[in-house]
Amino acid sequence: MKALIDRIEKDGYVLGENILKVDTFVTHQVDAQLMEEIGQHFANALKNKGITKVVTLEAAGIAPALETAKALGVPMIFARKTKSLTMNEELLTSEVYSFTKQVTSTISISSKFLSNEDKVLIIDDFLANGQAAKGLIELCEQAGASVAGVGILIEKSFQDGRKLLEEMAVPVYSLARIGAFVDGKVQFIEADL
Ligand code: 5GP
Repeated sequence: MKALIDRIEKDGYVLGENILKVDTFVTHQVDAQLMEEIGQHFANALKNKGITKVVTLEAAGIAPALETAKALGVPMIFARKTKSLTMNEELLTSEVYSFTKQVTSTISISSKFLSNEDKVLIIDDFLANGQAAKGLIELCEQAGASVAGVGILIEKSFQDGRKLLEEMAVPVYSLARIGAFVDGKVQFIEADL
């Protein structure tokens, strides 16, 4: 997606060996206009897949997931990383190791929001080693829901996430794919959408 790639080139900041900082438009301050365009882009490409729910993981996935859900006309559900006292009903849960925070957390969604009639599109900001997406797929599987695919804003293709998801037979739709970081600059490879 050209608008996203242009923005990464302009405002993305390469941190160390393998982290891209995008806190000026995705992960902290959020460019609402760009998120709306991203939502429409995913929806245009995937509108014929019979998607009934969009699922993401708090926090950075929420903005693009909400815009995608709005464009598809379906609800958005975000998995929580901490259990709230108000979540007193049955939960779907899985364990996710965070690439950036280097801690394992239990993520959960109330089981009343997903069923075996749902076809889910998972949306996340980054795909690195695929642990976040795998955890979300496991939540969907527990509910008996099928997963139509994983939509990613920024895939770091030099990490193992895509391979892991392809081994699980889940299609990956990335708007920007990074082949490498060279001398602090981002080198892109051809994206899916
Ligand atoms: P994975 O679970 O695929 O290893 O990592 C995906 C998650 O880690 C994303 O939800 C994102 O929050 C975080 N993440 C992974 N790589 C990066 C990165 O390069 N930059 C930022 N800002 N977050 C990342």
